Amino acid sequence: MKEEQIRPARLFDRYLEIALEDARELLAEATEFDEVACPACTAAGVTERFDRHGFQYRCCAECQSLYLSPRPSAAQLDQFYSMSKAVAYFATHFYKETEDARRRELVRPKAEMTAEWARRLEATGCLADVGSGYGTYLEETRELGVFDDLLAVEPASRLAGVCRDKGFRVIEQPAEAIAETVDASCCTCFEVLEHVHDPLRLLGALKRIVRPGGMVLFTTLTASGFDIVELWRESKSVMPPSHLNLLSTGGLRRLVERAGLELVDLSTPGRLDVDILANALRDRPELQVSRFARQILAAPEPVRRRFQQFLQDSELSSHVRIVARRPGGDPSA
Ligand SMILES: [Zn+2]
Repeated sequence: MKEEQIRPARLFDRYLEIALEDARELLAEATEFDEVACPACTAAGVTERFDRHGFQYRCCAECQSLYLSPRPSAAQLDQFYSMSKAVAYFATHFYKETEDARRRELVRPKAEMTAEWARRLEATGCLADVGSGYGTYLEETRELGVFDDLLAVEPASRLAGVCRDKGFRVIEQPAEAIAETVDASCCTCFEVLEHVHDPLRLLGALKRIVRPGGMVLFTTLTASGFDIVELWRESKSVMPPSHLNLLSTGGLRRLVERAGLELVDLSTPGRLDVDILANALRDRPELQVSRFARQILAAPEPVRRRFQQFLQDSELSSHVRIVARRPGGDPSA
C-alpha cells in the first residue's frame, strides 16, 4: 500500500488547506480554550512546546505524548465539526475518490483482523462500532458473518442516515453520551481518539458499551511512530485542531489502565511511515530529519520494506492498534 492510494497528495493538500481555514476561525475564540495536562498520563510537566498554525502543542515530560493545550472545549469542538468545511470536503471529494482503495487496503483487513480477535476472545455476539461514518467497516464486517448483531454509534445525523440506509441499527449519539451498557460483546473505534477533547472519557464510554468481559478495540495515531518522530512539528499528522492527541505507546498503555480496561495487545500495524517520510521530503527537501532517516530513504526498495516491517514489529509505526478487555464476566454468556 502507498500513501498516494489512500490520500492522494492533490486531494489531501487541498483538504489540509481548507482545514487550516477552519482552524483560523476557531482561533478567534481561543480565549475560551481549556488548558489541560497530559491526556494520557495526567502529568503536567512538558519537555517541549511549539506553535503549529497558531495552536500550541506540548510534549509530555513523563510519557512523551504530544497534545494540544490550550485546546478547544468539548462544546467548541462539537460546533467546529458540525460547521467544518474540511469535513464537508472530505465527504464530497476525498472520501468518494478514495473509497475503493480504502475499502480494499484499510477497511477489509481491519474487519478481518477485528473478527479474528473477537473469535479469540469469544466476543462474537453484538459488535458496536463507534464513529461508524459511512458504514463501510460495518459492511465489510457483515460480509464476514462472524458477529450475531451489528450496531452503529454515529452522532452525525447525515452519516447516521447513511448507516441506516445500509440496513444497520444506529444509535445517533456520541459514545460519551450513552449512559448505560449497550451490552455489546465487542466495541470498535477507529481513528477517533486523536480527535476528541478527552480521551479518557472516550475510553470510559467504550468500556461501558461492552458487557463485563467484553472486548474493546481501537486505533489511533501515535507520536511514537517513525514518520511523526522524524517530521515532528512539520508532520501532516500534527494538525490542529483536529489532531489534539498524538499519544505515545507508553501514554496509551497508561490511558487504558486509567480507564479501568485490561490491555490485551498493543501493536503498530502501520504500513506507511517510510512512504510518508519519502513523500514529505520529495515535496520539501529542506525539512530537517535525521541522517539515519535519509539513509533509509536512499536505500534499495527491499531494505525500505524490511525497515517498515521492523517498525511494525517494534511498536515504532505511527498507526497503533489496541485490544483491551472490560474486566470481569464472560462476554459470550
Ligand atoms: Zn504523559
